[in-house]
Amino acid sequence: MDPLNSNQPLDRLAYELSKLPGIGIKASKRLAIFLASHKQHADYLTKALIDAKEKICECKNCFQLTTDPLCSICRSAKRQNSMICVVEKPSDVNYIEEGGVFRGHYHILGAIISPLDGIRAEDCRIQELITRTKKDTVFEIIFALNPSIESATTINLISSLLPGIKCTQLASGLAAGGMIEFTDTRTIYHAFQNRTEIRQ
Ligand SMILES: [Zn+2]
Repeated sequence: MDPLNSNQPLDRLAYELSKLPGIGIKASKRLAIFLASHKQHADYLTKALIDAKEKICECKNCFQLTTDPLCSICRSAKRQNSMICVVEKPSDVNYIEEGGVFRGHYHILGAIISPLDGIRAEDCRIQELITRTKKDTVFEIIFALNPSIESATTINLISSLLPGIKCTQLASGLAAGGMIEFTDTRTIYHAFQNRTEIRQ
């Protein structure tokens, strides 16, 4: 039976939870049973979800999640707007910020070019990035994308659209390690310090 049409609330809840990143079928069932049997936790979670849905929006400048029109990084006078670090997802900003090494601004693409998944250049926030580089004096774009064929395609396209701006990518220590979220702060520090220039 399709869980979406199920009139069993527990099945519906487990189905919705199973769609969250990192939650498998087994875990979704365990969580659904936990929430159904712990009403107070369910109340807190419901309130937190409604609050997050109503109050969190995307920063107008970098597209990070925020409760204000501009995020705290875009508002900060201490950040250098001559450097933009390009990432795929809002969570990537948090991992890099934990490293404490980068003092510039960010740009969240939202997706990377992946023809097999039907994701085209227009589906990524590339035009918005180009507009930003025209508005501010940007000297360097640093790509902090998880290594893949798709990210290489995305990096090549963007850097070809930004002649005259230095384009770099994080050093291979991070690339060899794989995902940004599994990288410790020391590796992030070295990846920024030893970033390499992208040549067209
Ligand atoms: Zn921002």
